Amino acid sequence: MTSVAKPSWVEGANDAACEFSLANLPFGVVAGEGRGVRIGVRIGGSIVDCRALVESQCLARLDERVRAALTGDSLNEFMSLGREVWRSTRAELTRLLQRDCAELRDHPARGSIMLPQWAMTLRLPCVIGDYSDFYASLNHATNVGSMFRPDNPLLPNWKHMPIGYHGRSSSIVASGTPVQRPSGQTVQSDAGPPSFGPSKLLDYELEVGALIGTGNALGDPIDVDDALHHVFGLVLLNDWSARDIQKWEYQPLGPFLAKNFASTLSGWVVSLEALEPYRVALPARAAGDPEPLPYLRGSADVLYDIQLEVSIASAAMRAAGTPSTRISQGNFTQMYWSLAQMIAHHTSSGCNLRPGDLLASGTISGPTRQSRGCLLERTWRGTEPIQLSDGTERKFLHDGDEVIMRAWCEREGLPRIGFGECSGIVTPARSARR
Ligand code: CA
Repeated sequence: MTSVAKPSWVEGANDAACEFSLANLPFGVVAGEGRGVRIGVRIGGSIVDCRALVESQCLARLDERVRAALTGDSLNEFMSLGREVWRSTRAELTRLLQRDCAELRDHPARGSIMLPQWAMTLRLPCVIGDYSDFYASLNHATNVGSMFRPDNPLLPNWKHMPIGYHGRSSSIVASGTPVQRPSGQTVQSDAGPPSFGPSKLLDYELEVGALIGTGNALGDPIDVDDALHHVFGLVLLNDWSARDIQKWEYQPLGPFLAKNFASTLSGWVVSLEALEPYRVALPARAAGDPEPLPYLRGSADVLYDIQLEVSIASAAMRAAGTPSTRISQGNFTQMYWSLAQMIAHHTSSGCNLRPGDLLASGTISGPTRQSRGCLLERTWRGTEPIQLSDGTERKFLHDGDEVIMRAWCEREGLPRIGFGECSGIVTPARSARR
């Protein structure tokens, strides 16, 4: 039996190429003229204004506290209500948007509930609490390690735990927000001395982020088998990175200013329920690799078959109306460590996660040159520049470059599930005292 998307009465939702069919129904936060900031659900070319939907009484079957959470201007409250609430809300939305359901379709207020997506701007889906970033792709860690430590690319801890660091949430921005090139200390030779100025080696990092719905109490670790129940949904993330600043500052405590100036998040949060048909079993460890310790060994751990791509459009290309140049393609199944393992590891110390926390995968790189997830790897530290369709070449990002990440799931007989875009244009550094 195939589970193609059920038909909906919403225009565009039943097209085979639609990333936002009834099978997806991602949540986000949108703003539009005369409308303020609202929680929205994307379907076809429309966005359901959740506040207007609650006011229409169409969600009367849901609990009062659920309806109240949906009238807010951020998803945090709704995210905190837990998996059963997410499921029942999604089921109600599915019912209301099905072709044969007249309740919303023929509602007199339908015009003010269903908003055209082109008229709305996506905001961050929630107030991001803490942001932690992992380093969980074996190809990425091996590639980067081999550039800096050719004899010893992977450190001894790497295959025993998902390595990560605590990042910065204040500078996480919504897709479409310009990203200013950072300035910082950089060196010509490893021992210094440093000079201060705009980063010359600005990079992107292609990542998937998990937004935490329900958290855990301080001192109460999350079991690896329960970990995914805490995930509200997945987004795309560009973890912008200044490689020259990183190189000088990262020892001994890890990345700091090289990563804290901006991270861009895609706006639609895709639920694990929508991604369910695209679950794949976490592959067995390769021969010779250590088995993870028991607290990281799930009984049926999974990855998700999410296709990923990165494109760049220079300022000149955008001015000429030239399409962006696709520079890499990858897949989330390339991860060595699963999301459940990252969550179990993160909380194994007793650390508490809270609704709205963001855990990111780290750069996702596959085994081929085309599937490397950042320019550092893609151009091999600038030694293998890539060509854009305007005839220019890139080792690292130029001012005016727009980096566009896209992700989707697609398989014969299954509805396409899209994430939309995660994009940002690089703007020049602000002059500062050097
Ligand atoms: Ca990263």
